[in-house]
Amino acid sequence: MLAQYLALKQEAGDCLLFYRMGDFFELFFDDARHASRVLDIALTSRGEHAGEPIPMCGVPVHSAESYLARLIRAGCRVAIAEQVETPEEAKKRGGSKALVARAIVRFVTAGTLTEEALLEPRRANMLAAICEVRGTFGIAACDISTGRMELEECAPEELGAVLARIGASEVVAPEDLESMPLEAIPRPRGGFSSDAGATELQRIHGVATLDAFGAFTRPMLAAAGGLIAYLDHVGRGKLPLLLPPVIHSGSGQLLMDEATRGSLEITQSQQGGRTGSLLATIDRCMTAAGARQLAEDLAAPLADKAGIEERLALVEWLHNDPLLRGDLREMLRQLADVGRALGRIVAARGSPRDLGQLRDGLGLARRMHDYLRGKPDCPALLTATLPSLAGHGALVDLLSHALVPSPPTECSGFIAQGYDAALDELRSISASSRRAIAALEAKYRKETRTPPLKIRHNNVLGYFIEVPSKHADRLMAADSGFTHRQTMANAVRFNSLHLHEEASRITEAGAHAQAAEEAHFEDLVGAVTRARQAIAATAAALARIDVSLSHAERAAEGGWCRPEIVEERRLEIADGRHPVVEAALAKGGVKGGTGGARFVGNDCRLSPEDRLWLIGGPNMGGKSTFLRQNALAVVLAQAGSFVPAASATIGLVDRLFSRVGASDNLARGQSTFMVEMVETAAILSQATERSFVILDEVGRGTSTYDGLALAWAVVEAVHETKRCRCLFATHYHELNRLAETCDALSLHHVRAQEWKGELVLLHEVAKGPADRSYGLAVARLAGVPKDVVGRAKAVLDRLEKGRAETGGLAAGLGELPLFAAAVHAQEEQCDSLRDRLQELDIDSLSPREALDWLYQLKTLANE
Ligand code: ATP
Repeated sequence: MLAQYLALKQEAGDCLLFYRMGDFFELFFDDARHASRVLDIALTSRGEHAGEPIPMCGVPVHSAESYLARLIRAGCRVAIAEQVETPEEAKKRGGSKALVARAIVRFVTAGTLTEEALLEPRRANMLAAICEVRGTFGIAACDISTGRMELEECAPEELGAVLARIGASEVVAPEDLESMPLEAIPRPRGGFSSDAGATELQRIHGVATLDAFGAFTRPMLAAAGGLIAYLDHVGRGKLPLLLPPVIHSGSGQLLMDEATRGSLEITQSQQGGRTGSLLATIDRCMTAAGARQLAEDLAAPLADKAGIEERLALVEWLHNDPLLRGDLREMLRQLADVGRALGRIVAARGSPRDLGQLRDGLGLARRMHDYLRGKPDCPALLTATLPSLAGHGALVDLLSHALVPSPPTECSGFIAQGYDAALDELRSISASSRRAIAALEAKYRKETRTPPLKIRHNNVLGYFIEVPSKHADRLMAADSGFTHRQTMANAVRFNSLHLHEEASRITEAGAHAQAAEEAHFEDLVGAVTRARQAIAATAAALARIDVSLSHAERAAEGGWCRPEIVEERRLEIADGRHPVVEAALAKGGVKGGTGGARFVGNDCRLSPEDRLWLIGGPNMGGKSTFLRQNALAVVLAQAGSFVPAASATIGLVDRLFSRVGASDNLARGQSTFMVEMVETAAILSQATERSFVILDEVGRGTSTYDGLALAWAVVEAVHETKRCRCLFATHYHELNRLAETCDALSLHHVRAQEWKGELVLLHEVAKGPADRSYGLAVARLAGVPKDVVGRAKAVLDRLEKGRAETGGLAAGLGELPLFAAAVHAQEEQCDSLRDRLQELDIDSLSPREALDWLYQLKTLANE
């Protein structure tokens, strides 16, 4: 057995091996140690290997799914080794001591799940493959639970942002990839070839060329090849549902990098869960598929006006009609997850219950189609979506005719009466034989005068006659017509010719009925599989309607407004709110909050002439909240949602950046300040005039002077060279002086008052510079002991006194040349260096002269 185990383990590689033994999956060696820790189950041992006991633990087969779910959540991958023959077959093959043959039947990994119990209903489950071809990355991503597949390519520096948007549960990459992302699983290089990718996609979709799907590039196809090879490996040759791939292109989309997504908590909060994210706060979807679509929309908002307006028009139409909304939501409430049911069926992991879900879901789609058709002023997006809701008439009829109202998960008893006359006949044979057996029981009781006589059934003996031991003699008599089968402690069991005949009829009819139902299942699965693309389109249409309803509902709940989308570089939001903070305040979820607290709305008004707001004010005053609420308004609006404000005009944003000073990324081995600077550098290289940037206390992760100097230079660069819209929150009052030189920069602050020695935070954003930071007052508010605050006050007084005497922290800045002039001077110096180098005729130089030249150049550069 050990040899068999070790061979399978080698095949399983770094996956945990679930080794089937009877009613358990057993794990051995390190797998057992690891699993017992993760699952908190007992670690035992079995036998010996190399003189040591072999560690072992196991989980019962019938509850394996819940253990699998926990292992997957803990980041494990699992190979399932099943018994692939019965003990009898093994004996026949290799004698009485033969070991039952086992084989790995599938791998269970985070990115390749289809089981309802293992998937989160409201979250897409993405698997991604990446691959580099001559300096460009190809990315292939799919959600095999619904078959959605996307291909795209990007420059190496954008890979992090793309992976952050996709949010894959599992990433695979060729083993020799140089810049392997931390989380990626290395796979053999062979699969990652563009030729293999193209061939496989053509084969899967039965086409001779991929032209109809889009113009795929080599990196995209190579990644697709790697993805399909991995799916093939994991599914042991059986591929899941894959719909035709669509090209995902960054153009037409609001781009956000990983840090921005993290800090804005769009689909996940910084703690990692969905709770507390923008998504959780606005999700009013009635279906899981709608919630997944909503997450996708928020992760990749649009950047084209027409696409956004189309979505907004549908939301507004629904928003204006609460009755219509109520009807549609009621319909969606009953809708099963059509996309995932389809995914399971096509992946050969489906059951009659999934067929039932499709019948009901597609039937409901048709009803919704009929309900919506002909409604006045139907918005364009809905008109375009409606046809996909209808069109499954024949399939729905077939499934309705074939299936019982609530089909079971097992493959028997799910075909409805009247669908197949032969099956009905077989069932009636079983039924009449069952009645005949009941009649036999009554007859035998009478004939043998044994009232306690019973005809019973178990899986080992089949049907038998049972009487208590004391009545057994009557049936034992040679001419009784009964044959003895088994003697128990208190009872004796018999057979009779009639019973045997009836039982055989039942068994035979049962076997035929089972075979007939299995054949019908295959046929129905075939019919569904042939219609898979149209069914997937229906699922997508239902999800889009659900998302629009969710936006309309949320907007109605919160009094949100439809944003006006314009091309100019403006961002004007009146009485804007932060949806998550507002919801938390209302619930009392904020520390120290009592519930029911009111969120103070604030205006933001950026334009090309006033595009950079410097915001100061006390700690806890609401600066970060203000910055984020405006960034979130952009995300919401461009995703096609209303926004929490009285009115909003949003000039299309191409890239959104959000940076918070001093956030650690220790997991990646970068210090707090390093992270801050890496992220700032990305903004300074990538932001365009159409971008929107929020910078929250950038520069605070280092010493005061360094921080101030960097913050100063960053604000200037954003203002002078990037010229994008920007909100910059800071505690450095010295930066206020930038208003003198930067004409499109204005000063703002969050208001606070000290009242009877207590700090009152008003959370209002007002024009003008902040007077002070109130840091000590906030410390007192937070419960820092009085003596510590008192001491800090003494230190502060000294510092301020010193600062006043020397002319303040920014005392030396009087003579600082303007940013543009400084940049110009630097460039001039480079120019003179370049001129000297161009003059040089290298061929005519002696080694000695060349060395002199080098010294001269070095001196010049140092200047
Ligand atoms: P720090 O300078 O310490 O980072 P901050 O000025 O950035 O502070 P925030 O973190 O934005 O302050 O806000 C602190 C808290 O104040 C929030 O968690 C929220 O409870 C409350 N708050 C912020 N803005 C508002 C608002 N507009 N209306 C009501 N409460 C608010």
